[in-house]
Amino acid sequence: MSPTICATIDVEDFYEGMAVLGSPVKQLRSGDGLLSLVEELERQPSHPRVTLFVVGSYAERVRTGLSACTQAGHEIASHGPDHGRLPASGLVDWLRRGREMLEQLLQTPVRGFRSPRFDVPQAGLAAYRQALAEAGYQYVSDTNQLGDDSPLRELPVLQWHGLRLGGGSYQRFLPGLLVDRALQRSCSPAVVYYHSYDFDGSLPAMTAIRSLSLAKQLVARSRIRAEFKSLTARYGSRTCADAVS
Ligand SMILES: [Zn+2]
Repeated sequence: MSPTICATIDVEDFYEGMAVLGSPVKQLRSGDGLLSLVEELERQPSHPRVTLFVVGSYAERVRTGLSACTQAGHEIASHGPDHGRLPASGLVDWLRRGREMLEQLLQTPVRGFRSPRFDVPQAGLAAYRQALAEAGYQYVSDTNQLGDDSPLRELPVLQWHGLRLGGGSYQRFLPGLLVDRALQRSCSPAVVYYHSYDFDGSLPAMTAIRSLSLAKQLVARSRIRAEFKSLTARYGSRTCADAVS
């Protein structure tokens, strides 16, 4: 039997991310990738539907693309009000702000959350899950599982021996067969994740590589879009909200 797949896209700015890592890169091309993502999914006969985890502070800049996504039946979820770490204090307010920024901008309910850094606050996983529920979320998609004690649904991303196999950034270095095998063995649904900038053609050319951190980001990056296309064509995709409902 084919596994149920939830393909997800983290919607964030590649160049901001590199600046935060301390390796700023000059941006020569722009684009948000979302319109080409929607077009690509519409071309597929199985009509895959994906969940977009959107950084609140980036949403206004890609509003047109996000609106096209919601109109095509894709889901909007939160990737934090900004792409920083979970704050040590004021966590519930921070989480809620991420949700409300998107709901106000796009006039659509936001039910899910994924931490920008997959981190867990010092207070621990149980307190974190409680904070998410208090902030109005119905599910979380990260690398952890509290299990039956969680006050909201958990949709962990696909992992294999501690490796985040569900991530496009990892898949570019792995044989497709390995990802396939992990998908077949995963608990349903299998959550895989990609980044909006892998669809927009705005990434720096390989000739722009001047640092190890940029090399790590760019090597074999073009494989990711092909992997996403192949995986959604073979398995389809439903949104996370659909999977938890
Ligand atoms: Zn992210």
